[in-house]
Amino acid sequence: MTTGTDQLRRANTASVLRSLRRRGPATRAELAQRTGLAKATVGAIVSALETEGAVVEGADGAPRNGARGRPGRPVALRGGSLLGLGLELNVDYVSAAVLDLAGEVVASASRPAGQVGGPDPESVLLSLAGELGAAGLAPGGRLVGATVAVPALVRDDDRTIAWAPNLDVRGAGLADRLERVLPGCPVRISNDANCAAYAEAHHGAAVGVGHALYLTGTVGIGAGIIADGRLVPGGAGFAGEVGHMPVGNPEACCGCGRRGCWEASIGLHAVLAAVGLPELDTPDETARAVAARAASDPVTRDRLAAVGRDLGLGLATLASVLDPEVVVLGGYFVPLGELVLGPARRMLDERLVSSAQVRPELRLSTLGIGAAALGAAEQSFAHVLAGDVELGPGSAHAS
Ligand SMILES: [Zn+2]
Repeated sequence: MTTGTDQLRRANTASVLRSLRRRGPATRAELAQRTGLAKATVGAIVSALETEGAVVEGADGAPRNGARGRPGRPVALRGGSLLGLGLELNVDYVSAAVLDLAGEVVASASRPAGQVGGPDPESVLLSLAGELGAAGLAPGGRLVGATVAVPALVRDDDRTIAWAPNLDVRGAGLADRLERVLPGCPVRISNDANCAAYAEAHHGAAVGVGHALYLTGTVGIGAGIIADGRLVPGGAGFAGEVGHMPVGNPEACCGCGRRGCWEASIGLHAVLAAVGLPELDTPDETARAVAARAASDPVTRDRLAAVGRDLGLGLATLASVLDPEVVVLGGYFVPLGELVLGPARRMLDERLVSSAQVRPELRLSTLGIGAAALGAAEQSFAHVLAGDVELGPGSAHAS
């Protein structure tokens, strides 16, 4: 049974962990100052976390003066101890990343899936989760949570897939099946664009940017919105579902069953149809082949420029609504780069309503295809950093 004292201890522990995660190593005295907790409380928390293996004292080997002139040794998060598993289930590939609480990627992998005659994406996901989840069983390591990024509307219970037009998956079944592969590890489901935006804001092209928009470049197109450094979930958690805005060719058929959706003009399948090239194992590989063709073929360049103009048209609408400082483009946009970004910029310049409106800077993702899995891994620590997880030895369950 969880008592009020337990809750307070967890909340205080989480506060110390958040401080170490966001602001780096600190002495006990500095931690007390940063968190507003009493020094004795911080001392007890640090000792418990040391026993747990979550923090280490004197990691940088440099004692420094504490607040009262006593030498204090800095406490740091210990890499490899508390681990978060991030997974991405997409139409044509699956990715995974294991992150430790100190922010280091311990393991990562991407595999093709869903191709004709090949294994379905969910079985590839379950086997990859089993393999990488085993990292949490290594000596000293513990998996505290797993998050799956999906190109779908996910209900705010963080488990139920409400709508996934490009994938055959619904309800809470996926989370249940993953929990059977990852015993004792709580599994959450999250939107892929939100996960990727979160990763770009913490590790990639949008670090230090207050207002950013992330756009996925896969078969579907989704957005993750960062405002004041935080993800904007919307009322039901569905914000950023931009792929089905009516932009681009009004006749193009979309995976959602309608015509004229933005992703039916600028999603990966639309790009391949425009340039007449086949899909390869991953969006990244496919887009590199398209870029290679464009290098020698002016017709391919023209068709990509048309995709870029439709990209710019939708971005002009989003820029008018959200006023982002930076738009980060992920997935297949990365290998295509200026082939689509140049025309998109010119379209943005034409469509922005006034010269007073600042054109958002268009940046390519620096995390590539692994962005959503990395962001999902990062989100797997949300329970720990919110104080909802008991960090006593041997228990990893949220209450
Ligand atoms: Zn649609």
